[in-house]
Amino acid sequence: MSVPPSAERMTDAIARSPGASAATTARPAGTIAGTPERWTVDAVEALFALPFTELLHRAQTTHREHHAPDTVQLSTLLSIKTGGCSEDCGYCPQAARYHTGVESEALLAQDEVVAAARAAKAAGASRFCMGAAWRGPKERDLAPVLDMVRAVKAEGLETCCTLGMLKDGQAQALKDAGLDYYNHNLDTAPEFYGDIVTTRDYRDRLDTLERVREAGISVCCGGIVGMGESRRGRAGLLAQLANLDPYPESVPINHLVQVEGTPLHDRLGGEPALAPLEFVRTIAVARLTMPKAMVRLSAGRRELGDAVQALCFLAGANSIFYGERLLTTGNPDVDADRALLSALGLATA
Ligand code: SF4
Repeated sequence: MSVPPSAERMTDAIARSPGASAATTARPAGTIAGTPERWTVDAVEALFALPFTELLHRAQTTHREHHAPDTVQLSTLLSIKTGGCSEDCGYCPQAARYHTGVESEALLAQDEVVAAARAAKAAGASRFCMGAAWRGPKERDLAPVLDMVRAVKAEGLETCCTLGMLKDGQAQALKDAGLDYYNHNLDTAPEFYGDIVTTRDYRDRLDTLERVREAGISVCCGGIVGMGESRRGRAGLLAQLANLDPYPESVPINHLVQVEGTPLHDRLGGEPALAPLEFVRTIAVARLTMPKAMVRLSAGRRELGDAVQALCFLAGANSIFYGERLLTTGNPDVDADRALLSALGLATA
């Protein structure tokens, strides 16, 4: 397993940090900004090890201290530039180097994006996320995206983009165009990162997140589980997220959808690498370690089924990606989501 040197240093830093022995109780982190305590991977792993009912009880109790318990926020994601990506993320069907059947497409026209945003709003979404399969936007790419952000914002939606790594000045340009959120996932624990991606390292991810924060854009940052990582790996990811200062406002947790032709499909053979209840535990621990964040069920929801999703809501998930596609993988259809939320008596925001 290759370990990015920067990631090793970050893990050490966490292990040596003040409050490192804070053990299993969730820190009383009532504020998003400036929480002084830091989570050790051991402490996060101890939360995972709680009896399931105890873990869910704690998570639901924490959830109710910070969020309406009966409301789920809906986000819709549109791929504005699909396929042909130069990166080698082992889970991703959009990487040009893998043979997944995803073709490289040009950037969508602005009127197509606005039409999709209007449809999303009409279907109940409050946030519209635009995703592009880039290592990062070139300057000539960014200008039309800025126009899209302005246009979607004018439709009365919160705006989010996921465009890859940002250079100096690009985050500020997005902020000036009216961008509310920028998504940039840490994907997995630092120690596992080199097994999944080799064309960039963990430090690159953190640098972009810092640029986003400095520009005053809210951070959407989570990861993917079910990639063959250990429970300690999941704990390591959540510790990294929770120790961002401040921790992200939105935390999407993806359950890997294995796509044929990707290295992770080859490695895992198409068999789920994570038990559904372990996914629920992951959601609960995300809620306990990041009490005020919106914890979002993202890719892989369709495979989880209704009962597991219901447990995830009990564990503190309060946001979903909504709409029939998630970049290039399927999502439950809108009617199925409506039926599930109705059966659970959950309102939408
Ligand atoms: S996850 Fe993003 S950066 Fe990685 S290959 Fe896919 S589109 Fe490219």
